[in-house]
Parts: sequence; structure tokens; C-alpha cells
Amino acid sequence: FLDLTMEYYRSDMQSDTVVIAFYDVTDLIEAQFQQTKFLANVSHELKTPLTSIIGFTDTLLDDQTMPEEVKREFLDIIAHESKRLLDLTNDILSVIKIEDKVLPLVKIDVDQVVQTILKAQSQAIETKNLRLELMANLQIEYYLEPLQQILSNLISNAIKYNKKNGLLRIRVERIGQRIKISVKDTGLGIASNAQNQIFDRFYRVNKARNQQIPGTGLGLSIVHEWVDKLHGTINVKSQVSVGTTIKIDLPIK
Ligand code: ADP
Repeated sequence: FLDLTMEYYRSDMQSDTVVIAFYDVTDLIEAQFQQTKFLANVSHELKTPLTSIIGFTDTLLDDQTMPEEVKREFLDIIAHESKRLLDLTNDILSVIKIEDKVLPLVKIDVDQVVQTILKAQSQAIETKNLRLELMANLQIEYYLEPLQQILSNLISNAIKYNKKNGLLRIRVERIGQRIKISVKDTGLGIASNAQNQIFDRFYRVNKARNQQIPGTGLGLSIVHEWVDKLHGTINVKSQVSVGTTIKIDLPIK
């Protein structure tokens, strides 16, 4: 896209001059387009649970004769949709603030970070009876918030999309001036034609939607934006019904 300005100079001594300047505003237009698209997606994603919460609440308020078990079922839906709304709000806030975030360098016990994430997800790990292989014995000076969010989003996906009795392997190691993260699962896997879309905001593979696995479609876009900001790289290896390994490589300054 080009923006054009034209200026006209009148001079008594010489002939008149016209200056035409072209500015390349492609990046600006693209950024505005992405912003509009993001806002439209946010509104749509927030509307869905809100509509459901309002609908079920109205029905509960209107119908005094509703049997107890139906009431219970409706309240469960309201609770579930409210939780989804909170997850969405948190993820949306995370996505928005990444770009401008100033990051302090702090001493991090990586094993402790991973243990905290695993503890928060212990119920899902138990329910699926996952076998855990963990290697994250590492102390580093790095940025805590991105490390926490990257690990948390990758690990929660590797649990959510895993199969019963599957393997969850988490490795974080330092090799020279690089942090290498690898999270492997033996779950649903991602079809090759979807692998380059999973980092797009709000993208969810149909299978995840159909199987009613909860999610916002923002987790991996948050990972991607942090990795970009930290000048790292991401590598995805996945096979449908076999499993997924996501590797992240982050430079240490
Ligand atoms: P979500 O909140 O849906 O998990 P993500 O951005 O984290 O959103 O992931 C995007 C989509 O990529 C998911 O909906 C899922 O379809 C797919 N995906 C991500 N991680 C995995 C994984 N480990 N195994 C299988 N599919 C995955």
C-alpha cells in the first residue's frame, strides 16, 4: 500500500515546483488489519459463553417449577461457561501485553517452575494416568514470566491432548548460551496441514473442538509471541494419533 502526498511550491524567480512523495504504508495497514481482526475475534469468542450464561440464567429465573436435576445441569453449564470466560480474559490479556512488556532478569529454579505447573494440573495427569519423564534440573538467570507461560501452555496442551496411559516428557536444559525446551506427548497429534496454523490466535484444530477439549485457541499464539520477542525458535514434530513434540530454543544474552 502506498500513501501519497503532493506539495506545490510557487516561486517568483524560478519555475513552480511540485513535490510528490510516496510512502510505503503496507506494514501499517497490515497491523491495522490484524488489530481489527483480533478485536472481531475477541468479541465473538467472549459473546459465545456470555450468551449461554445469560440464556441459562434467564431460564432458571423464569421457570419456578424446574426439577432440581435440570436446575443443577443448568448451573453446571453456567459455571463451565464462566470458567471459560475467565480463561479467555486471562489469555487475551496475556496476548495484549506481550509486545510492550519490560522483562526483568531474575534467578530461576526451572525445576521448581515446572513442579508448580505440574501441581496445578495434577488432577488431569492422574485422571489420564500419564507417565511423567522430567528433566529440568537447571538454575538460570532469565525472564520468569515468558518462561513460565511457555512451559505452562506447552505442558497443559501435552496433558489435554494426550491419551490415557500416555507419556508426558518435559526437558529443559542449557546448552552453551541457549535454553532448550522440549515437551513431548503421545496423544492426538496434529495433521501436517494444520501445523503451521496452530500458532494463529484463536485457531483450534477441529478435533479439539469436536472432542470438547476445553481451550481458548490462544495458548500457542502466546508461546509464539514470547519466542519471537526473545529471538528464539520453535520446532513442531507431530503425527496424528501418535503424538507431538514441541521444541523451543531461546538464546541467553
Ligand atoms: P487451545 O486453547 O485450543 O489448546 P492452543 O493455541 O494452545 O489452543 O493450541 C491450538 C490448537 O493446536 C489446539 O486447539 C489443538 O487443536 C492443537 N494442539 C496444540 N497442542 C497440541 C498437542 N500437544 N497435541 C495435539 N494438538 C495440539
